[in-house]
Amino acid sequence: MRLRFAPSPTGPLHMGGVRTALYNYLLAKKNGGDFILRIEDTDQGRWVEGAEEHIYASLEWCGIIPDEGPRNGGTCAPYRQSERKEKYREHAMRLINEGNAYYAFDTPEELETMRKRLEQEKSSSRQYDANTRMQMRNSLTLPNAEVNSLINAGTPYVIRIQLPGEGRLYMKDLIRGDVEVDVATLDDKVLFKSDGMPTYHLANVVDDYLMGITHVIRGEEWLPSAPLHYFLYKYLGWEDKRPAFAHLPLILKPDGKGKLSKRDCDKLGVPVFAVGWKDPQTGEFSAGYKEQGYLPSAFVNMLAMLGWNPGTEQEIFQLPELIQSFSLDRVGKSGARFDMDKVKWFQEQHFRSQSIQILATEVRQTSEEWAAISEDKLHAVIELMRERVASVDQLINESRFFLLAPDAYDEETVRKKWKPETEQILKGFASVLQNLPDFSPQPLEEAFKAFMEEGGYPFGTGMIGLRLTVTGKGGGPSLFHTMALLGREEVVERINRGTEFIKATLTLPLPDRPNYNRTNE
Ligand code: GLU
Repeated sequence: MRLRFAPSPTGPLHMGGVRTALYNYLLAKKNGGDFILRIEDTDQGRWVEGAEEHIYASLEWCGIIPDEGPRNGGTCAPYRQSERKEKYREHAMRLINEGNAYYAFDTPEELETMRKRLEQEKSSSRQYDANTRMQMRNSLTLPNAEVNSLINAGTPYVIRIQLPGEGRLYMKDLIRGDVEVDVATLDDKVLFKSDGMPTYHLANVVDDYLMGITHVIRGEEWLPSAPLHYFLYKYLGWEDKRPAFAHLPLILKPDGKGKLSKRDCDKLGVPVFAVGWKDPQTGEFSAGYKEQGYLPSAFVNMLAMLGWNPGTEQEIFQLPELIQSFSLDRVGKSGARFDMDKVKWFQEQHFRSQSIQILATEVRQTSEEWAAISEDKLHAVIELMRERVASVDQLINESRFFLLAPDAYDEETVRKKWKPETEQILKGFASVLQNLPDFSPQPLEEAFKAFMEEGGYPFGTGMIGLRLTVTGKGGGPSLFHTMALLGREEVVERINRGTEFIKATLTLPLPDRPNYNRTNE
């Protein structure tokens, strides 16, 4: 099996494109086949600076690595269509010589006149096809000598396919099943443009053939082009080598109404790109899943499930498992709704299932402060925090109190939970801590309970006061584990400092209290 992803570098690669690449990759790898990357850059007018690099960067981040492509070469090189021009011309000439294509010299104005005339005549056909081509200026209507002299004089021309204009075409789609087309509805599409470049249709078919492509998985926006491609395979005598086609349904907006766009994603606050994209014209940077702290494995898992299901309850997949499980018969026929909560859920699951070792490496790579912390302490912090966060950035932000004493105390919690007796409880417990022989989680917890029971204090008041002064927050990971990690001296100092700070600010009139959330009063 040989499958390919054939993007045009006309802009950044959206996640829909990445999904197409992924499905091609998965099917190829599942069957021990090859995955080829081909850059379809024949439309020079729509070429966008940086788009090709964005394709490479996106695939690389996702781990969708081509076996052959512009960067790593291969037996069918080159893999960039602009470097293969001669091959397309050769096949266009063959189509002309065998009566399956023709030169057309019509100017844009003449084409416009034709369209208007057909409109006025209320003709059933408004396009360049079997009904209209004999009224136009092309090598079917002009004498040979004139055609030659026009070409020799450098008159601009295109090459059009010559379709039969009637009959029915039966196509097979691996996702949609049988598709039947009325050939009379098809037009004589341009195969070769006046700028000397082939159109997508010709280049795509010629390359799929020359590169030995066996299966084409692509977006459903290409389904209307498939009949033309069938005719090209037929006219070029390659029907027995025609790849099997599978047209993927769209990725839909969360409400299911229409195709998911960049604007929808912006509104939802989720990226539309795998990796960030800087618009070469405006300089505006749009972060991708990568920049927003998502794991590539979570993104790939989410994309795979957008339109495919494994037929089991399993939802969490790493790439190798996706390769094992993937099959086209489990790709849905209708569009797949994008679900933002699910995206976050996949991220949480993948984030939490990483080994502590891997997470520690990522934390060290991301933060200099953490890079300087001992391995044991970092591992212990990760162990405590990883169930509470969903990205390395979040882990680092929310673990600050392990490195630094709080410089603010959660206002809401102070206001609601700091009681007149809290100060007394904390001061008393701080002195218990000074003399505690073993400063590890369990003895800490036991000492706290004993102290509270002895004093007859309400347990919750003591706990929340302790947490506030030690971490500055109203919630967090196991407090006694946190204290054990911080160590006796630090904990006692934090309790004393926090108690003084909160006591001092609580007696201030409301507007003068620091960090006071005024809007709530
Ligand atoms: N170059 C086309 C695109 O940009 C390829 C479509 C196909 O896979 O045939 O999507």
